[in-house]
Amino acid sequence: DDLVTDGVRADSVPNDLEAFWMPFTSNRSFKKRPRLVSRAKDMHYYTPEGRPILDGCAGLWCVNPGHNREPIVEAIRAGAAEMDFGPTFQYGHPSAFRLATKIADLAPGDLDHVFFCNSGSEAVDTALKIALAYQQTIGQGTRTRLIGRERGYHGVGFGGISVGGMVANRRTFGTMLAGVDHLRTTYDRENQAFSKGEPEYGAHFADELERIVGLHDASTIAAVIVEPMGGSTGVLPAPKGYLKRLREICDKYGILLIFDEVITGYGRLGYAFAAERYGVIPDMICFAKGITAGAVPMGGVIARKPIHDAFMKGPEHMVELFHGYTYSAHPLACAAGLATLDLYAKENTFTHALALEPFFADAVMSLKDKPGVLDIRTVGITGAVDLAPRAGSPGLRGYEALEKAFHEEGFMMRIAGDTLVITPPLIISKDQVGELVEKLGRVIEKTA
Ligand code: PLP
Repeated sequence: DDLVTDGVRADSVPNDLEAFWMPFTSNRSFKKRPRLVSRAKDMHYYTPEGRPILDGCAGLWCVNPGHNREPIVEAIRAGAAEMDFGPTFQYGHPSAFRLATKIADLAPGDLDHVFFCNSGSEAVDTALKIALAYQQTIGQGTRTRLIGRERGYHGVGFGGISVGGMVANRRTFGTMLAGVDHLRTTYDRENQAFSKGEPEYGAHFADELERIVGLHDASTIAAVIVEPMGGSTGVLPAPKGYLKRLREICDKYGILLIFDEVITGYGRLGYAFAAERYGVIPDMICFAKGITAGAVPMGGVIARKPIHDAFMKGPEHMVELFHGYTYSAHPLACAAGLATLDLYAKENTFTHALALEPFFADAVMSLKDKPGVLDIRTVGITGAVDLAPRAGSPGLRGYEALEKAFHEEGFMMRIAGDTLVITPPLIISKDQVGELVEKLGRVIEKTA
């Protein structure tokens, strides 16, 4: 086959980049100098020419067990051959129930019912809708207000951007949901700079919820949603004690607490869920990404038993919750999810991540004295380096770093403005951590 050189098909290289309007991408810059990958295995992507790219961001925080792992590939193959699609409205297929049971078993406390969807954004909208419907179901229909947090990221649906706190994701999209308020961010550089793991300072930021309750009255508030670790705004771990305090205040006022664990779920912080790491049981957990290692889109919400059970009343032929997606619990996603959870269990992926955390944190912190480093944060297998922006051009240094990383150093990472984020697959070895951090250090120097 003369289309193949070095095992790469020449026709795998697109010859026209124009038609694809790329998401969350600087389209014009990208298309002038594309960063293309066409194959992946374990810790690496490969460019169409066959150049290895060390994956410093687990794809998009989702490929926790490494790329193209055989058991997952095989499960998808077998699943596709068995049943292409199976409706989950009034019908069901066994793998959906099996996966829900496994997820419920992994989740702490009485978080034991799983509602499936296809992405993190859908998971967030689902959780917000369940919260509102639940309050109505228990006779608390005046509780319609939703509380998010500044610098929070909860995907891109109208619900998610309403409770989210990233200015760029909100400002061009109108008024969004009414009746939303925000806690302030937990990040305070002056008192937290260069913290490894959860900062000592900042539990009191949870008391903001008392202020918000004072302003609106508890009887108007349905739920609070937070990420246990803010991911997309540049890795903001919860300060020690913050989430516990938030739980206490929610309990005091009958407000539901939702953890958005789209990033922190499935091992990123060394546990199946961050809820376990922090010893705090939320009323709902949103998940996506790591459930299928990114191989097939899937998201979902895990709800505590009393939340689910509150809906199970009225005539039994009636639909209890008027919500769902055509592709909720798609058979292919269920097959991938089951294989992924088996792989995590077999390889003790989460405990491996937890054991690696101190080494990873030290490695990332070693970049402290590189030029223009303003702060470094680490938690689990995730690290962020804030760089001093170029005068008058915020985000430019970050973007240049992204380009140099790919084209010159051969690695991928995430950027949030001028913050460089590494969040590799959890199977990363100590040597590869060293390699990734060395490459990152050179990129920081080159963009100084
Ligand atoms: N919630 C959090 C915390 C996320 O980090 C993300 C994506 O990064 C989402 C929601 C949205 O997920 P998706 O892009 O699958 O819609």
